[in-house]
Amino acid sequence: HTSSAQSQTIAAISTPAGSGGIGIIRMSGDEALQVLQRIFKPRVSDCSFASHHLYYGHIVDSATGRTLDEVLAVYMRAPHTYTREDVVEVHCHGSFLVLQNVLELILAQGVALAAAGEFTKRAFLNGRIDLTQAEAVIDILSARTRKGVDLAQEQLSGALYQRIDRIRKSLAQMRAVIEVAIDFPDEDVEIVDHSHIIRQLQNEVAEPLERLLKNVDQGKIYREGISVVIAGLPNVGKSSLLNTLLEEERALVTEIPGTTRDTIEEYLDVHGMPVRLIDTAGIRDNAGKVEEMGIQRAKSLINEADLVLFMLDGSRDVSVEDLKLYTAVSHKPMLVVVNKIDLNKVDKHFIDPLQTIAPVVHISAGKQLGIDELKDAIFRRVASGADQWEEQGCAPNVRHKQALLKAHGACLRLRDAFEVGATSDLIAVDLQECLDQLGDIVGETTTEDILDVIFEQFCLGK
Ligand code: GDP
Ligand code: ZN
Repeated sequence: HTSSAQSQTIAAISTPAGSGGIGIIRMSGDEALQVLQRIFKPRVSDCSFASHHLYYGHIVDSATGRTLDEVLAVYMRAPHTYTREDVVEVHCHGSFLVLQNVLELILAQGVALAAAGEFTKRAFLNGRIDLTQAEAVIDILSARTRKGVDLAQEQLSGALYQRIDRIRKSLAQMRAVIEVAIDFPDEDVEIVDHSHIIRQLQNEVAEPLERLLKNVDQGKIYREGISVVIAGLPNVGKSSLLNTLLEEERALVTEIPGTTRDTIEEYLDVHGMPVRLIDTAGIRDNAGKVEEMGIQRAKSLINEADLVLFMLDGSRDVSVEDLKLYTAVSHKPMLVVVNKIDLNKVDKHFIDPLQTIAPVVHISAGKQLGIDELKDAIFRRVASGADQWEEQGCAPNVRHKQALLKAHGACLRLRDAFEVGATSDLIAVDLQECLDQLGDIVGETTTEDILDVIFEQFCLGK
C-alpha cells in the first residue's frame, strides 16, 4: 500500500478534549521538525532536537510575538516512530483552549488536520503494523475490562498476525509445489504427492483455521460484553442487587487513588467479561405514566439480553404474579435468583422444582451473601467455554470471522479436489482464494473502502 497523500504532514490533539494535567498535540510527516522549529522557542540556545529527546520551552506565534504555552517538545526521527514518519509531540497544559490555540498555529504552517485514525492508518500503510494490530489499537481504546485490554495487547503484539502468517506460508509452499505440476503437465511421474498435500492442508490450514474460528465467540464476549437483565416483581430486591454488584466494583476501582469509575459506570467485570446490567423496574419507572410503553421497552430489552436473572423473594411464597413474569421471560437463557436468604424463610418446596427450569442461585442482595456464586453462575451460563482458548490470546473479530470462514471453505474445496484428483489449474483458484482471504485479515489485499470503515472507528488524534 502506498498513498500519495502520505507526504502531507498532519497534526491533531491526541489527548481527550476537556481538561487534564497535560494535553498532547502530535504531528507526523516530513515537515514536522521544520514546523516545530518555527513555533517552539527552546530554553537552551543550542537546541539540536536530538531524536527522542524532550526539550523544554515555549510555543510562540512569531507573527504576533504571543506566547501560547509553556511546553515540552519531542522530535522523533523516522522510522522509529508510531507512523514510521518523522513525528513531533508537543506536551502542553491540558486546557482545551490552549491546545486549540497551538493546533491552529501548527495548521497555519500548512499542516493538515489529521482525520480520525490517520496516524494509525499511516503506521499500517507504512508497514509498521498489520491490519489486525491496527484493529487492536481500537480494541485497547475501547476495552471495558482488564482482560479485554490484555487480549487487545496480545493482538497488538502480533498474536493473531503470526497465526495467520503461518497458515499463509504453508499455503504458499504448497502453491510452489503445485505450480511445478502445472508447468509440467505431461510428466509421467506424479510430481505432487496428493496424500501429503491433503495431510498438509488438514494439519497446517484447516485445523488452525478451525481453532481460530472457535475463539470468535470469545472475541465477541470480551469486546462487546454481554447484557444481563434483572427481572422480578416489585420488592424482590432488584435495585439492591444492582447496587450491591456495582458497589463492589466501585470499591475495587477506587482502591487505586485518582481513578474514577466513569467509564465502567454500567459495566461489571465478571471474570474479565464486561457485563451490562439492566434493571427492568428502572425502565418502567422512567417511562412514567405511559405504562404500556415501559413494558414494551422492558420486553425488548429482555429480548435483546444475553441472560435474564429471574429474581424471587425467598422470604415469601412464589405467587401467580411471579409465575406470569416467569412465563414472559422463559424463552431466554436464565438464572433463577432467590433473594433474601438472610431471612431464613426460603421454602424448599417451591424453590427445588425450579432447578429443573434453570440453575438456581441463593443470595442476599441486602447482606451481600452469595454474590461471588452468582457471578460464577453468570459466567458459566453465558460464557461456557469462554475461558477455554484454542489459540491462546487470539480473539478474532467479526471481520476476521468472515474471512476465516471463506478461507476455510476454500481449503475444504481444495482438499476435496486433491482427493478426487482434479486438474491443477482449478486447484490454483481455490488456493489463491484461501490466500486472499487470509491476506484480507492482515490487510495485504484489503480494499480501500474496508480500510476506511476500519479507520473511521478511531477517535481523532489516534
Ligand atoms: P426491587 O423493587 O425489586 O428493586 O427491590 P428493592 O431492591 O428495592 O428491595 C425491596 C426491599 O427488600 C427493600 O426494603 C430492601 O431493603 C429489601 N431487601 C433487598 N434485598 C434484601 C435481602 O437480601 N435481605 C433482606 N432482608 N431484605 C432485602
Ligand atoms: Zn427497584
